[in-house]
Amino acid sequence: MREGPKSDEPASPAEPRPARERLDEEIREAGITAADIVESIHDPLVVLTSDLRVRVVNPVFYEQFRVSPEETTGRLIYELGNGQWDIPELHTLLEEILPANDAFDGYEVTHEFEDLGWRVMLLNARRLDHLQLILLVITDVTDRKQVEALRAARDAAEEARKAAEEANMVKSQFLATMSHELRTPLTGVIGLTDLLETDVLGPTTGRQKESLARIRRSAWHLVRIIDEIMAYARSETGRTEIRRERIPVTDVVREVVEMLGPVSDDHEVDLRLTVPDEPVLVATDRGKLSQIVVNLVGNALKFSEAPVHVRLSVADDWIQIAVEDAGPGIPAERQEEIFEPFTQLDGSTTREKGGTGLGLAVARRHARLLGGDVDVKSAVGEGSTFSLRLPRTSQ
Ligand code: ADP
Repeated sequence: MREGPKSDEPASPAEPRPARERLDEEIREAGITAADIVESIHDPLVVLTSDLRVRVVNPVFYEQFRVSPEETTGRLIYELGNGQWDIPELHTLLEEILPANDAFDGYEVTHEFEDLGWRVMLLNARRLDHLQLILLVITDVTDRKQVEALRAARDAAEEARKAAEEANMVKSQFLATMSHELRTPLTGVIGLTDLLETDVLGPTTGRQKESLARIRRSAWHLVRIIDEIMAYARSETGRTEIRRERIPVTDVVREVVEMLGPVSDDHEVDLRLTVPDEPVLVATDRGKLSQIVVNLVGNALKFSEAPVHVRLSVADDWIQIAVEDAGPGIPAERQEEIFEPFTQLDGSTTREKGGTGLGLAVARRHARLLGGDVDVKSAVGEGSTFSLRLPRTSQ
């Protein structure tokens, strides 16, 4: 069927335009009947009398709206389907818009039918004044609308994901920059403390030396926290570089143990180290390995009152560094969660001891980048063993 006149360019059936006349004539000449045309329309079509009663509908209408001829013909359109067609927008279209514009296209109506559920329909109407009739064609666009809604929801979700990713990136870049700015002056603090301790700048008393040692320990503690934040920020922005070289793992572990030795003035823990007799050479990233061990041993010392035991062992193509403590232990259901960034168990110890909640997340990310992993075995009240496994050769 040809598209009828639009509301802003009303057709006047009293003065048919030449194109319409020609069409009428061609249809007549071809012997096509109105029934042929009405039946061939795929959208439901309703012919209404001027008092809005149904004169005739096409078969598609019965099918699509599940109504029978008996409850349709001669009825007021609003009464169809037991009043299901008493739709406010239909009143507006037929009683206000159509009398003012003798044709109207694409009037969207969303309505919940008792039998059919929610439907979105486009209504096209024509006033045939010379016949005192109204033609109403109803196109069901519910499926199309659903697809559009799904597409819109998917686009919105994608936008939200991108925005979250960008915000995360900005946060990580901010952390990396800030950490760098904080670390630089600390190097000066540590360097000058070392210098003062050597008495090069003048003699220092025993008590001053004690204070200098405390300053140095606190400064190193701060350096470790900042390094942890930087490592995490770099891993988030995907800027973690791996520098592999053959390194003597025993030396790396020993250095860490010596560095962390007595962890603080008020909290000393016996730290034991067991390593194989022969040197263990591994092709890996020295800085990252060292940071993983610092984080695991640091935690064990922080949370444990009893001895901490660090064991390096070799099996086949793997090395394992196990850090065993006799601290409070970690409940089974939280043993995975503690590897998530910013996760801390809410026991009073954690709050007392401080920390960033990033140490284990960084340790695991580094370990996985190096082809290995970190996991934990723990029982509440008995202690924990965190184990790092790494391949001996480069992947
Ligand atoms: P942080 O130590 O900075 O809080 P981590 O990521 O290193 O962050 O550890 C996360 C949490 O896991 C800690 O806050 C603590 O609650 C728990 N945890 C880690 N190591 C141990 C341990 N050896 N014993 C008991 N709890 C631990």
